[in-house]
Amino acid sequence: MAIKAEIIAIGSELLTPSNIDTNSLWLTEQLNRIGIEVQIKTIVGDDEALIEQSIRKALERSQVIISTGGLGPTEDDLTRMVFAKVLGRPLILDTQILEHIRAKFEARGLSMPENNQRQALIIKDAKILANSKGTAPGMYITEAEKRIIILPGPPREMKPMFEQEVLPLLKDLSQGMCVKRRVLKVTGLTESGLDESIAPIYSKYTNPSTTILFTNRELQIHLTAKAANESEADELLDELSKKLEARLGLYVFSSQGETLEEVTGKLLKLKNLTLATAESCTGGLLAERITSVAGSSAYFLQGVVSYSNHSKLTLLGVPLELIESLGAASAEVAEAMATGIRRLANSDIGISITGIAGPESDPSGKPIGLVYIGLATASEVSHKELRLQGEREQIRWHSSTAALDWLRRKLC
Ligand code: AMP
Ligand code: MG
Repeated sequence: MAIKAEIIAIGSELLTPSNIDTNSLWLTEQLNRIGIEVQIKTIVGDDEALIEQSIRKALERSQVIISTGGLGPTEDDLTRMVFAKVLGRPLILDTQILEHIRAKFEARGLSMPENNQRQALIIKDAKILANSKGTAPGMYITEAEKRIIILPGPPREMKPMFEQEVLPLLKDLSQGMCVKRRVLKVTGLTESGLDESIAPIYSKYTNPSTTILFTNRELQIHLTAKAANESEADELLDELSKKLEARLGLYVFSSQGETLEEVTGKLLKLKNLTLATAESCTGGLLAERITSVAGSSAYFLQGVVSYSNHSKLTLLGVPLELIESLGAASAEVAEAMATGIRRLANSDIGISITGIAGPESDPSGKPIGLVYIGLATASEVSHKELRLQGEREQIRWHSSTAALDWLRRKLC
């Protein structure tokens, strides 16, 4: 029987349409890895009575209770106080932590606001969990047979605290059981096409189990293995993922969590090639994705957004007659844009995107979703025509993906 954990995500912002509780997803993955199952999770606003109810319920039914959020310095950050109340333990001001917080402010040339004092309040007999990335420490409490773990809300503080401080304290619960996942990321296939191709392989395995997921970014194959320990789980995952990768070849671009832009960037760096982009309908999305990768300055030289016909002429040297006779969304213009940006940036490779993202259809009668990608190198200029489906945002996203993927395949 796996140990049962429960997560309580605290914060009113998590109940609005604009903020997602990502902490519990990450924590679930971490807990599963050491064989702890998450049986229920709660998202609760900054409301004392509701937080209290959630904590009481959790203590009734779960062995491990992890909360995130509500450890900030403001009035609405109630987590410490409510846990102390439910556990019937006092909050004690820890002067060492207080001085540590004060020093953090002073290092930035600021004096500590009085409010921050509450972040140095510790529940009696809690083990303090150091916060290497922020001010509020976390707490680890054992109460009867239960483990209670109180973590800050910001993911950049919560994650290192969990890895460095909490995992070692939970290892003894793992009972030699480990659940591990691996994700293979795929481009260039439909969901059903992918399933048809790999079902004969994965259906022979129950461990790892396989699911196919279509995210708004890409197609993913999720493999989940259960084993006595991490290395046995890895062996199970290796065996199946090798078979799937052999079947899918270049359709798989990542098996270690990398994004398409990271993989493409690595290949450019490896081959010592430079890149420049010229974008029309994607408005810089391709350049944004490429430069989201740290270290991309090693291969990315320049990106131009040439939206109007005039700027295609003045920035990239695309002849106006070409645009006027064939339309901006045409193979010839895509190629001329790629050649133009390659010349302008003096890069090894120039890549371009031009097309019709909608929602208004093109006056020339060309369909929404018609997109051309151009690719220019020292030895060749070529293009690809895409006929994409969906809303404007999807068309823009898939256009940038297709451009990255074409480049990746060229470099493989
Ligand atoms: P808090 O510890 O409540 O002050 O949280 C501060 C910030 O952390 C919030 O404004 C959110 O941006 C982020 N945060 C809190 N809880 C979560 C969560 N469950 N998932 C992702 N981000 C969170
Ligand atoms: Mg909060």
